Amino acid sequence: MSEEHEADDKDGGPPYAECVLCRKPTEYPKSQKGVTLCPVCEWQEAQRAACSG
Ligand SMILES: [Zn+2]
Repeated sequence: MSEEHEADDKDGGPPYAECVLCRKPTEYPKSQKGVTLCPVCEWQEAQRAACSG
């Protein structure tokens, strides 16, 4: 008789801020101020900025 309690008891979603563009969880905490972008959108924004001019 062996009962194992899984430590995977997270409920309510990850404590990460949502991407303002695609609503996916970012790698920033919810306490992050300003615009939060997921890695994908962040990369795309960086490409835009790099292409200006
Ligand atoms: Zn995004």
